[in-house]
Amino acid sequence: SPPAEKFEYQAEVSRLMDLIVHSLYSNKEVFLRELISNASDALDKLRFLSVTDPGLMKESSELDIRVQTDKDNGIITITDSGIGMTREEIVDCLGTIAQSGTAKFLKALKDSKDSGSDNNLIGQFGVGFYSAFLVADRVVVSTKSPKSEKQYVWEGEANASSYTIREETDPEKLIPRGTRLTLYLKRDDKGFAHPERVQKLVKNYSQFVSFPIYTWQEKGYTKEVEVDEDPAEVKKEGDDNQIEKKKKTKTVVERYWDWELTNETKPLWLRNPKEVTTEEYNDFYKQTFNEYLEPLASSHFTTEGEVEFRSVLYVPAISPTGKDDITNPKTKNIRLYVKRVFISDDFDGELFPRYLSFVKGVVDSNDLPLNVSREILQESRIVRIMRKRLVRKAFDMILGIAMSENPEDYEKFWDNFGKNIKLGCIEDRENQKRLAPLLRFFSSQADEVMISLDEYVENMMPEQKDIYYIASDSLTSAQNAPFLEKLKEKEYEVLFLVDPIDEVAIQNLKSYKEKNFVDISKEDLDMGDKDEEKEKQIKQEFGVTCDWMKKRLGDKVASVQISNRLSSSPCVLVSGKFGWSANMERLMKAQSL
Ligand code: ADP
Ligand code: MG
Repeated sequence: SPPAEKFEYQAEVSRLMDLIVHSLYSNKEVFLRELISNASDALDKLRFLSVTDPGLMKESSELDIRVQTDKDNGIITITDSGIGMTREEIVDCLGTIAQSGTAKFLKALKDSKDSGSDNNLIGQFGVGFYSAFLVADRVVVSTKSPKSEKQYVWEGEANASSYTIREETDPEKLIPRGTRLTLYLKRDDKGFAHPERVQKLVKNYSQFVSFPIYTWQEKGYTKEVEVDEDPAEVKKEGDDNQIEKKKKTKTVVERYWDWELTNETKPLWLRNPKEVTTEEYNDFYKQTFNEYLEPLASSHFTTEGEVEFRSVLYVPAISPTGKDDITNPKTKNIRLYVKRVFISDDFDGELFPRYLSFVKGVVDSNDLPLNVSREILQESRIVRIMRKRLVRKAFDMILGIAMSENPEDYEKFWDNFGKNIKLGCIEDRENQKRLAPLLRFFSSQADEVMISLDEYVENMMPEQKDIYYIASDSLTSAQNAPFLEKLKEKEYEVLFLVDPIDEVAIQNLKSYKEKNFVDISKEDLDMGDKDEEKEKQIKQEFGVTCDWMKKRLGDKVASVQISNRLSSSPCVLVSGKFGWSANMERLMKAQSL
């Protein structure tokens, strides 16, 4: 047979393998979860592609995962009958680090170093294929894609900078389709090859995989066997007839090995919500999305009527891309199934608008065709209805966090996803009424805990008509703004909009509960307390002063006017009624750079 060909890893990969092994040292067992999740992905891919190309299944119709252990030699074999890999795919997939799980891991590692936070969290993190090297010093991947005539073998060793690929020639090792991973365990990790240990790990970590996972188990059954009594004993009795009677029965255990189904394959979302515990929802979330933190909220529902689908949605506890990157809608956060067949997790706004792209979950529809394509998704009326319902459920879920007994939960949510809600106020007119109650601001009367618009409205003075705000670049400068004086005197609360996007969001909303938002830095601020007579008098008295000042300042100001809005400061610079606020101007300047 042709010799194995040698390949160098992409530079980061060998570094990554080293990192994984060192930072996950105490949490090695995640390797099994990772490898089973890859097997499950491979089966999902095959099942999906075979909808349009039934020929892919012709070698075998089995879709399952089998984990076999050889405890004497410290070997674990994981076999799936999934899509397998062609030779090119092996190089692409196992020699590079472009994959989702691993990139995320590196980020978490960096974050935890930056913040000095608990390293144990990383232990629960998804690290993908390379996690095999946590426990194995040699890994052999033998794989057969239905697209390829040949079966190929990838072989790599821990701490090596290269791997080899050759053709599988041993007829005993040929598989009809799919992938077989063989892990040769490190000396200290051979314990993982105990069949009971593997079974326990599968139960713990992979209970929600929707394909059957079998583990190779030793079984036994008891049977009664007849045994002759000691001949000497029999002779003593001296009675031939009694020999028959003296035959004894004995219970023996007959041992054999067989595959045992080790997981529950009914998808969680098909179960009755009343019978699913919070812990199960959380475990499902962590397993499905490779998450390591519990979600902030979840929602499990079925919709009937026009369009039927089931869904479990989650709000994550942190934003994986960082607070400031909300523009990436391609997050693989929603897994779409049609009649339990996984279709895709690659969406671009079809099921959730981009500002809600942080919501994770599964959606299973009976009304979409199995061979649904991107075009169908974009055009489909059914998808539009689904989207509408999903978005509403997401709002309910977020509102649920806001109403929960744990105020920190919503603070966490706001800290991570507040920007998304504000973006929603700008982009999604149809849902503004649902978004506005989710907003939070600091104010002249709340500088430690943020308030909602509802709280603002409740706190309004009896004669107060509008909702006042001031936009500024920091909390301190908002607190010290001279515009506040008069309002403070009247005990009117003023919202502090300190995030650049705040002002745009508020301007898009225009009003809340029929109360207009009013910028206190604009020139015509009217607090309904005009004394016309007095104003006329003052204007006459100071008109000349104003004219003189305008002349002195020239083009630097549009006009100089008498105002009744200050109480202790002598003068203030304000924005024109139709002009940009000072804050907006700052923003625009920043953008045009
Ligand atoms: P991820 O699963 O996040 O993509 P992994 O490192 O776990 O990253 O896997 C890398 C890639 O290797 C997968 O995306 C897949 O293309 C391929 N792969 C891994 N295991 C299998 C398998 N059992 N069958 C087919 N392809 C696989
Ligand atoms: Mg993976």
